[in-house]
Amino acid sequence: MHTVQKNTVVTISYKIQEIGGEVLEESQEGFPYLHGGYDNIFPKAEEVLEGKTLGTKIEIDLAPADAYGERDLNLVRVESLSDLNIPGLQIGDMLEEDDEETGETIIWRVIAMKDDQVMLDHNHPLAGLGIRFSAEVLGIRAATAAEAEHGHVHDEHDSHGH
Ligand SMILES: [Zn+2]
Repeated sequence: MHTVQKNTVVTISYKIQEIGGEVLEESQEGFPYLHGGYDNIFPKAEEVLEGKTLGTKIEIDLAPADAYGERDLNLVRVESLSDLNIPGLQIGDMLEEDDEETGETIIWRVIAMKDDQVMLDHNHPLAGLGIRFSAEVLGIRAATAAEAEHGHVHDEHDSHGH
């Protein structure tokens, strides 16, 4: 495989930076992902990587909606500290809640506290940020049938624990 295309496993080094701001995440040694619309990396970054060859460097700016999402005020709520009854609760703490419909765990971040009121936020911590995504293609190989079927990369033994 010489070009990035659907059902190739692409190894990239990458950097995610707030536009005009600090580096948020960086991987220099390389991160393998399955290419082809499996939602493993930002879709716009995948579009730019499509058809690229080994050693190609890319850099794109992503609007919040194309990165971690817009901040949604419906995902912010206020609770009473005495109702929550969590001793030592602080700004930045993460509270877990089980979603009764889906069974998934929902994370709420404490973003403000005043008197008896606690403001909880379920947005991604990086929601609302425009980011610059830069990457270099370090490796390209064909995906195995199992990888393509599962939509993600497996290890060298083509096995995994799920
Ligand atoms: Zn799998």
